[in-house]
Amino acid sequence: MSADRWGIEGHEWVVAALQKAIASGRVPHALLFVGPPGVGKRTLARVFAQALQCTANDVDGRPCGECRACTQIAAGTYPDVRLIETERANSGQGQSRRDISIDQIRALQHQTSLKPYEGRWVVGIIADAQEMSDAAANCLLKTLEEPQEHAVLVLTAPDVGLLLPTIVSRCQVFPLRPLPVDAAEAVLRNRFAIAQDRARILARLSGGRIGWAVRAAGDEAVLAQRRERLETLLQLLQASRVQRLNQAAVLGENYSKGQDGRDTVHETLDLWATWWRDLLLIQENCGEQIVNLDRAAELNSMADHYRPADVASFLDAIIATRRYLERNVNPRLALEVLLLSLPQAVV
Ligand SMILES: [Zn+2]
Repeated sequence: MSADRWGIEGHEWVVAALQKAIASGRVPHALLFVGPPGVGKRTLARVFAQALQCTANDVDGRPCGECRACTQIAAGTYPDVRLIETERANSGQGQSRRDISIDQIRALQHQTSLKPYEGRWVVGIIADAQEMSDAAANCLLKTLEEPQEHAVLVLTAPDVGLLLPTIVSRCQVFPLRPLPVDAAEAVLRNRFAIAQDRARILARLSGGRIGWAVRAAGDEAVLAQRRERLETLLQLLQASRVQRLNQAAVLGENYSKGQDGRDTVHETLDLWATWWRDLLLIQENCGEQIVNLDRAAELNSMADHYRPADVASFLDAIIATRRYLERNVNPRLALEVLLLSLPQAVV
């Protein structure tokens, strides 16, 4: 592991700030890593925990990646680092994601009230902290208000707006941004040995989120799902009014099925937005910047058949729908309006 940047790709100033905090002995008791899914929040939380607990003699070489603390933290078995995350539950309707419960936070609270078992600190990582139930969030607030000397809590979330302001205000917030696409491509090729063509496409599809790209590289289902969602979009362009309304109903129902369903609809809309943005780029002669590089031929031929003004206004409509959904409008209604406003081909 390279000690200079903890082996982390990107996020230079965050790593530097954390290194400085450890070196100066002023480690914040609560940190919040914020950024889109797959940007590297959990990886950074884990490496930070290693840096806090590493037992290598050379302080500048921490985390060494080799001592017992480092290896056990990587394996998730170190007693003084506890990861709290949502659990999958089997309900009547198959697998569903459960909120982070008050019991999980209480268990963490109990552990942080005790001295570390063998490390220097007790580190609690609350991944996707926005998934805490209200009771859990309020319980955590108490822990944050009365921090223990030896305890460090690391929260991760896609956006500060998804957490109680009272929680955010007690954390030192570190925003994590995606890598530039070219840099992401280089990392995928050099560090993860992904073939050039694939690395190029994944870097663009991921928008520079290495974690997402690596997951997609190792899991055919991610790209298959993308194909399916794009097919749905293209079929909708040819579909009748009734078929569009039916699709809106399917998506709307999905949206009402809890967090997983909401994520699915958001991801679908985000993907569709990349498609229309790509069309606009081609129409503006910036085709080399498109995201859906592997579908360039289709995009190029489609670009000739749609008015740029129609493409732009549908792109706006997707973004607006995304916002309406977050504000809890009737999802089916919002999606109906969107799908009925799909642009018409002109020739
Ligand atoms: Zn170590």
